[in-house]
Amino acid sequence: MGFRILVKVCEAGIASSQMRLNHKKLWMAIGKHFSCTTMSRTILKDSPNAALNKTLLNKYLDLPQPDNAIQAKYIWIDGTGEGIRSKTRTLDFIPKHPSELPEWTYDGSSTYQADGSNSDIYLQPVAIYRDPIRRGNNKLVLCETYNSDRTPTASNQRNKANEAMEAVKDQEPWFGIEQEYTLLDFDKRPLGWPRNGFPGPQGPYYCGVGADRVCGREIVEAHYRACLYAGVKIAGTNAEVMPSQWEFQVGPCVGISAGDDLWIARFLLHRIAEEFGVIVTLDPKPVEGSWNGAGAHTNFSTKPMRANNGIVEIERAIERLSKRHPYHIQAYDPRGGKDNERRLTGKCETSSIHDFSAGVADRTASIRIPRGVAEDKKGYLEDRRPSSNCDPYSVCNALIRTCILNE
Ligand code: ADP
Ligand code: MN
Ligand code: MN
Ligand code: MN
Repeated sequence: MGFRILVKVCEAGIASSQMRLNHKKLWMAIGKHFSCTTMSRTILKDSPNAALNKTLLNKYLDLPQPDNAIQAKYIWIDGTGEGIRSKTRTLDFIPKHPSELPEWTYDGSSTYQADGSNSDIYLQPVAIYRDPIRRGNNKLVLCETYNSDRTPTASNQRNKANEAMEAVKDQEPWFGIEQEYTLLDFDKRPLGWPRNGFPGPQGPYYCGVGADRVCGREIVEAHYRACLYAGVKIAGTNAEVMPSQWEFQVGPCVGISAGDDLWIARFLLHRIAEEFGVIVTLDPKPVEGSWNGAGAHTNFSTKPMRANNGIVEIERAIERLSKRHPYHIQAYDPRGGKDNERRLTGKCETSSIHDFSAGVADRTASIRIPRGVAEDKKGYLEDRRPSSNCDPYSVCNALIRTCILNE
């Protein structure tokens, strides 16, 4: 009991750096206990996944796997347009191309995609990745979803995006997506934040190092390697402005593979964090107030933009984007702009959801032209509006239709 009170005092103490100074002596006395207690209490004890013995698991994972029994994990997007589902089947061959993989079905009435009376939804394999969790010849299989009448489900944005990609193939569209996300403790508070109060204000955390600056790096490192192994074109990673918020980037990816790679990277992030007993949220504004939200900045270029004096093409694209702001806002989060309303406030390095703007090196604009691109007079543009929980297929589709097809 006495110890619990001590911890409470201590937690309140890190609400501000000024108070931290006042409590310096107290901290020194219990510092070691404090950090351990916070972690074990909130991560290890409360999350059953983190508490399960992973060493015991290895006894079974070390069993030899028959050569003619390949585990294929079929992965798809559920009816929320955000949730990821998966289930596994055994194959008697090593698949090399999605077309070799059997079509499959699932219960769409349990994924917000169908009524119970007509519940079978088709899974159509579209991309294969190596499985970094099961390893060996085992695979991750990304799927599109189709209704019983073979029309794409409402959450199948890939189908539409792929049509647009095919129409502009000769322009070789590239995408680089910056996925920001927040790690949450099992009680849905940002990982490592004090129970009663807040960490010190933003400033020291972005790209930071040290136990008082970043939290959850184990997950970031594991995820990076897992993506590399899987064949996801992960470009990099960094700690973000808000503590326990992180980013990874995929790209530059050609065409539809940007969305495919991002969805597989998201799946792996949730999957790895699950093992640590940590929750990943793609909520675009996980903490209200002067805490940065989370976006999915989308960097976009075409062959002409990347060629000499491509800045002219980039400016033409921006001109077209300026006329279709509401269409893009509607496409940039799963609730047609409702989620981004909380994030695109015009504060915390965002533009206002109501206005379109563009500028060189401007982090308060809808579209930023990176400084290097302005200097080289060629390259790409960055659309800063997509929400962290956007469907990348929907974002890429909108960019192509506006910037290239001039719809
Ligand atoms: P920021 O400075 O906004 O934080 P990042 O370094 O996080 O930018 O991300 C830049 C992204 O842009 C990366 O995913 C990278 O692959 C992508 N990218 C680089 N060049 C191009 C290009 N020509 N077309 C599209 N995307 C590109
Ligand atoms: Mn970035
Ligand atoms: Mn960022
Ligand atoms: Mn960016």
